[in-house]
Amino acid sequence: MRIGERAAIGYERLDMTLGSAASGLTFQTPLIFEQGAPGRSGASLPPLDVPEVDPKAHFGDLAREASPGLPEVSEPEAVRHYVRLSQQNFAIDTGMYPLGSCTMKYNPKVNEWAARLSGFANLHPLTPDALAQGALELMHRLERGLAGVCGMDRVTLHPSAGAQGEYVGLMMIRAYHQAQGRSPKKVLIPDTAHGTNPASCALNGFKAVPFPVGRDGIVLASELAPFVDDDVAAIMLTNPNTVGLFESNIAELTQMVHEKGGLVYGDGANLNALMGKARPGDLGIDVMQFNLHKTFTTPHGGGGPGCGPVGYKSILAPYAPVPLVERDENGTYYLDYDRPESVGRVRAFHGNFGMMVRAYAYLREMGPEGLERATELAVLNANYLRVRLGELWHVAYDRPCMHEVVISDKHLKDTGVTTLDIAKRLIDYGFHPPTVYFPLVVKGAMLIEPTETETLQTLDRFVEVMAEIAAEAERDPEIAKGAPHLTRLRRLDEARAARKPVLRYTA
Ligand SMILES: *Cc1c(COP(=O)(O)O)cnc(C)c1O
Repeated sequence: MRIGERAAIGYERLDMTLGSAASGLTFQTPLIFEQGAPGRSGASLPPLDVPEVDPKAHFGDLAREASPGLPEVSEPEAVRHYVRLSQQNFAIDTGMYPLGSCTMKYNPKVNEWAARLSGFANLHPLTPDALAQGALELMHRLERGLAGVCGMDRVTLHPSAGAQGEYVGLMMIRAYHQAQGRSPKKVLIPDTAHGTNPASCALNGFKAVPFPVGRDGIVLASELAPFVDDDVAAIMLTNPNTVGLFESNIAELTQMVHEKGGLVYGDGANLNALMGKARPGDLGIDVMQFNLHKTFTTPHGGGGPGCGPVGYKSILAPYAPVPLVERDENGTYYLDYDRPESVGRVRAFHGNFGMMVRAYAYLREMGPEGLERATELAVLNANYLRVRLGELWHVAYDRPCMHEVVISDKHLKDTGVTTLDIAKRLIDYGFHPPTVYFPLVVKGAMLIEPTETETLQTLDRFVEVMAEIAAEAERDPEIAKGAPHLTRLRRLDEARAARKPVLRYTA
């Protein structure tokens, strides 16, 4: 029973890292608020060497009257608390994370080395340009690098995420139309698109108009045609799209929209399938976002600081956010705020600079050949999984895919085991679940993106585990229905956690 043996190894490993659920012992993590004791401390501060001040005099009503009641803990208690929390989570550093559309690829440690260099890490955001030449040069070089990869004229590094990048790109499109005395209202979006696309439209006062994609999973000119008219401000296209297929009619689609005066927004989240092979700028895209935490190996973080630069063609240059990093004739870098038609500031200071250092380190580490090779391996890995998983699972669009593949669990319908159950059961086997129930056009969808860094052994093990889960579903559906069995917490109420988060500790 090879599969069983491997699964057992997975159990043991998880058992060690996640606690003793499998061995029948109860495992309780003490909360940090229940640890420590008054006077206990992990820091040794020097004696006060400046005059003491009265907080009331300086901060008025904002000054605290009483202590905030934070736990007083020793260094080992604080370290154990955070390390334990990190072990209760799943991370790309502990296992494969095939979360389709999100490109959870390995974050090379050289990025962290670069971002921690004192000249970068300790630079104050208000440092005068003359004293921040190295940082400005890095931003300038990153901009040129990203523009080169995508065939764009310029790139703003300000937005903090892909979604904010979309929002900023559409702001620029709106400003472009307004400068011509036009105010078209509609933005066309295929029905496979990511939910952030219509949200970015709504926030910009545009009306998101969905249109259906063809049966093959890609947009057909004939299906788009009835939607294209003078009131179209833009079309938003994701290429490859969210079912992992290359939009092979893209030149025709972008031309149709351009002819009516509209622009083309490219959702760049899936750039991991194109780098070094095709440039969105050459395919007719006018403006696009980069998700540095997807394609360019910066951490996804837990909603922490991110960076979603926006590349644009020169027709949109007047409207780009301020400031821009420019270089004068003496080779000195400076921040240019003098841009009267700009959409303005979209972010405090200069964006999340630490992410820019990491992405630049990755670009330089890989070089053009490395990026091209990464794309090839990402696509190869996805196609390997398409064929191997296809032996058992239904492949939604069974032809060569790009960097991700959609399968469905429809052959398990009679077992009563749902897509969510399968996702949860994967956690017990040491894999992060793929994206489930998205794209919406495929029933019971699992969108799987292995990325270029997974080895053949890992991919084979994933296929075997998926087969084992399917066999379990037929044999004893309750196993998957009760999964995950090995995590500290089982199934959370995700909707309530998002809508009514408990952010304060109460004893
Ligand atoms: C991830 C993603 C986005 C949003 O990007 P964030 O950086 O998560 O805000 C938009 N579109 C697609 C297709 C994505 O996969």
